Amino acid sequence: MDLTIPEHILAARDSVTRLFEGEILPAMPGHEERREFPRALIARLGEAGVFGAAFPEDVGGTDMGFLAVALIAEEISRLAPEWGYAMNMQAMTCPFTIFNWGTAEQVRRFVPDLIAGRKIGMFALSEPGGGSDAAGAMKTTAKRVGDGYRLNGSKQWITFADQCDAGVLFAKTDPAAGHRGITAFIVEPKRVPGFTAKPIVMGGLSPCFNSCAVFLDDFAVPAENRLGEAGEGFKVAMSALDYGRLTVTARLLGMAQACLDMAKRYARERIVRGQEIGRFQMVQQLIADTVIEVEAARLMLYRLAWTMDAGQPATREAAQAKFFASKAAKGAAAAAAEVHGAYALTDEFPIKKFAAYVNVLNVGEGAPAVQRVLIAEDALGYKDANRHPPRRRR
Ligand SMILES: Cc1cc2nc3c(=O)[nH]c(=O)nc-3n(C[C@H](O)[C@H](O)[C@H](O)COP(=O)(O)OP(=O)(O)OC[C@H]3O[C@@H](n4cnc5c(N)ncnc54)[C@H](O)[C@@H]3O)c2cc1C
Repeated sequence: MDLTIPEHILAARDSVTRLFEGEILPAMPGHEERREFPRALIARLGEAGVFGAAFPEDVGGTDMGFLAVALIAEEISRLAPEWGYAMNMQAMTCPFTIFNWGTAEQVRRFVPDLIAGRKIGMFALSEPGGGSDAAGAMKTTAKRVGDGYRLNGSKQWITFADQCDAGVLFAKTDPAAGHRGITAFIVEPKRVPGFTAKPIVMGGLSPCFNSCAVFLDDFAVPAENRLGEAGEGFKVAMSALDYGRLTVTARLLGMAQACLDMAKRYARERIVRGQEIGRFQMVQQLIADTVIEVEAARLMLYRLAWTMDAGQPATREAAQAKFFASKAAKGAAAAAAEVHGAYALTDEFPIKKFAAYVNVLNVGEGAPAVQRVLIAEDALGYKDANRHPPRRRR
């Protein structure tokens, strides 16, 4: 395994840095003040190819692969953690699921617009009854009516649902059949009535990017928008989460790196007892432990991306990498807070913001306990985590 990052991927990451520093970050205070979803900025990133790395050129992608996805997601979250959501909804969990499971016509209709940022995506799996056991907790139903389906029920925590043009949503077409009764759909909330999204207020997070409670009231979905076969939805969801965990791991790593950078900078600036606090060994211990965890998380992320780029099953690697990156990011945020003393509580340093987004991703795409169960069952030989071949269109 060669750990050298290819030049073209480094160049793609550098262009993301320039776009954020030059155009996206300067525009955000205005959007935050108006509590406005930055739709035009998403389209700008889409136009620049930021969301297309996992996709071939014939659907508008840049065909750079999963390592590029990882580096781009890491860089975005290092610079602006709230923007990491876009990597899941516009680059991976939503469009990549349609790409992998959709018919040629569905791919043509939805994928190019999603990765270009012309349409806003969504991935609606979790429900109020629970996210860890998404299949068991699922109460939303899809009933066949004429040449389509009628969906009823509710979803919870659905990111971008209040802006969504085209997203993936899961419902039970056969409630008696357990996880084999779940079907995936491509939904277009703005086209027909019956879909209501209410933003959930969460302290410390940007007001521009909402996660929502969603209510479905006889919401009509045409039969041609069914994604995969009826009853195949659980498989669709599980394969989507593996790929989603790549971006979530990268986002956690980016945030951990940002916290480490802040801690290092402050340790060199802050003078106590006549010396930089970085000279105190206990501060050095915080820095050293964080450096080690961040580097280890980075290696696990790159192994995951490499495994995916090689077309091999990666459920095990995704669970391990996501779990560890979450631990590293929580540790990095705590260390940054410790190093900054009282100033960690002020708005002068964005430590609270990073800590809030680390907490979001700690549970998002699977809580640590869920990863632990998967990792332990695999290690003990009860259930091979990599028993299924990865779902890839090509
Ligand atoms: C800001 C935000 C955005 C989100 N965006 C989306 C989205 O776009 N789409 C979407 O579908 N979902 C989304 N989610 C939901 C997220 O995926 C769920 O929160 C997550 O899956 C956990 O589900 P839960 O919160 O219902 O926790 P629960 O399932 O209620 O679990 C609570 C706790 O119980 C423990 N636990 C659960 N299962 C086990 C077990 N088997 N063994 C041991 N302990 C266990 C864990 O410690 C867990 O943290 C989002 C969440 C947040 C916070």
